[in-house]
Amino acid sequence: MLHRQRSTPVRRALAAGVLLAAGLVAATPVAARDDRHCVGKEAVRLVNGRIHTMDKRDSVVRSVLIKNGRFAAVDRHGGHDDDRCTKTIDLRGRTAVPGIIDNHNHIILLGLRPGHDTRLENANSIREALDTLAARAAGVRGGEWITSIGGFSRNQFFLKDGVARFPTLQELSKAVPNHPVLVYESFNGPSATNALGKAFFESRGIKVGADGFIDAAPFFGTGPSLQALFELRKLQTFAEQKRGLRDAMAYAASVGVTTHLDQGGFPFKDSGFDNTDGAASFDRYRAFDSVQALYQEGKLTNRIWINFLHVETDPATPELQARLRNTFPDFGDDMLRVLGIGEFTAGPFFLPGNEPWQNGTRLVARAGWRNENHSLSATDFKTIIDGWQTIHDELVKEGNTDGISKLRWVLAHVPFITPEYLTKLKNLGGGVSLLGGWRWLTGDAANNGPPFRTVRESGIRAGMSSDGMQISTMSPWINLYYVVTGKNAKGELINAGQTLSRKDALRLYTADNGWFLNAEDRVGTIEEGKYADLVVLSEDYFDRHDVSDERIKDVHSVLTIVHGKVVHDDLDRKRNKYWDRKWRDEHRGNRW
Ligand SMILES: [Zn+2]
Repeated sequence: MLHRQRSTPVRRALAAGVLLAAGLVAATPVAARDDRHCVGKEAVRLVNGRIHTMDKRDSVVRSVLIKNGRFAAVDRHGGHDDDRCTKTIDLRGRTAVPGIIDNHNHIILLGLRPGHDTRLENANSIREALDTLAARAAGVRGGEWITSIGGFSRNQFFLKDGVARFPTLQELSKAVPNHPVLVYESFNGPSATNALGKAFFESRGIKVGADGFIDAAPFFGTGPSLQALFELRKLQTFAEQKRGLRDAMAYAASVGVTTHLDQGGFPFKDSGFDNTDGAASFDRYRAFDSVQALYQEGKLTNRIWINFLHVETDPATPELQARLRNTFPDFGDDMLRVLGIGEFTAGPFFLPGNEPWQNGTRLVARAGWRNENHSLSATDFKTIIDGWQTIHDELVKEGNTDGISKLRWVLAHVPFITPEYLTKLKNLGGGVSLLGGWRWLTGDAANNGPPFRTVRESGIRAGMSSDGMQISTMSPWINLYYVVTGKNAKGELINAGQTLSRKDALRLYTADNGWFLNAEDRVGTIEEGKYADLVVLSEDYFDRHDVSDERIKDVHSVLTIVHGKVVHDDLDRKRNKYWDRKWRDEHRGNRW
């Protein structure tokens, strides 16, 4: 399972990626020196870093050697055969951490967004939102759609105005005059458009206000925002879907995410469900075509692992049965891999206790698959965990003494989970996936949690995720900001008493997340033999003097490496005063 010998397109691309990394520091690529000599011996050494390995001893090291997609040496010379084939990248005192693992998000849905998707999660005002859209448009041929669908909230960038509002048609038209624009909140809107967008939507019979506002109502149904989204989806080609996924991965790499565990989407109408979930819905038979194509072409720049989301009305759950009979669990290579079932197990919209959910959950347990469900309310986690316990007891009674206890079933989000139920789930061998961005965007005093501290004290397996990118942000630094400060986007403290230290918070996103992928032996820390997934940060996240709590959410990546391949590189462009000063300080023996 661990070491696949077969040469795949991804493997070949990754080998080529080491050359790309080498090209970072020298105009002459490794291959140009002595092509044949270095084949299979290419290596990259990062030196002069503050590299937080997140290993059990919390080691911070200065250098790592990367070879064949893995960490070959950590903080020691050696582990390589030939210096001529090794390229060195001088980090000049920068902070690096293991590649961020997002154990629950919707990267596939993000990749399927129509138009040129633009993440607005880092915009803190209307001005910044407009600047972000304008910068995106500058790189796109005129007339093509600039879109931002989900993953932001008006709460976040309209603070100074005192009102939560969208940019107006006039503002959008001025910022992006030559491209139609759609800025769309959450699953179903509402949304806003510019003059070119308004003309398009009105020609399709969609009602747009004079200020560019497009209503969401009725929320679950066929609001004009939902219609607008589906009109754009009709225009989308397969090539655009592939480009969309590449853009999504590029954004992820720019904020340091190297691995996603995708939790699926809701099926389109043909399944008997309405298209009520807007940005969270997809064609379940075709949704994975783009990720498969990019995998075959060796163009995956993030690890994308898949859970299959199942909702169906038939209590016999024929779709889920077919899945379990015809698909391998925890199978693929470690760039594209099928993990399990989630975040829904047959029950439509997850009414726990109902027949499809019970039957589906029992089937997944008997088949021995990993399973994940989400918990949002103050009571649903009890029904789910009690239901899992019942099925576990059935299995034990039948002679399967492990029941579900070795299957690593996960309950996600858990804003209101209690110590009692954490213990119950822990005893079932389960874990909880925690998030921050959702509460940061739209949380308040009543809609807060998850109780990070209580979870930690319970000793249950816990890891971080974003649940991006419909109702939540992707950036781990925004999610971490919420874990560390307990504050929402309006600056209100809503999770007091449940915050964690920066290091404990980041551990949930790295070392602790290996378990959630059944891959703690391969990912999550910087240790010899593990995959070379690493992020060099824009600033020193661990230094409270340099990065105030308020600024945690602005941290991003300047260099992201996945399986030894550089997939994001701003290292030279960001050779800024901040790091030069820190570098000088270190050499003067200051602070560090
Ligand atoms: Zn989710």
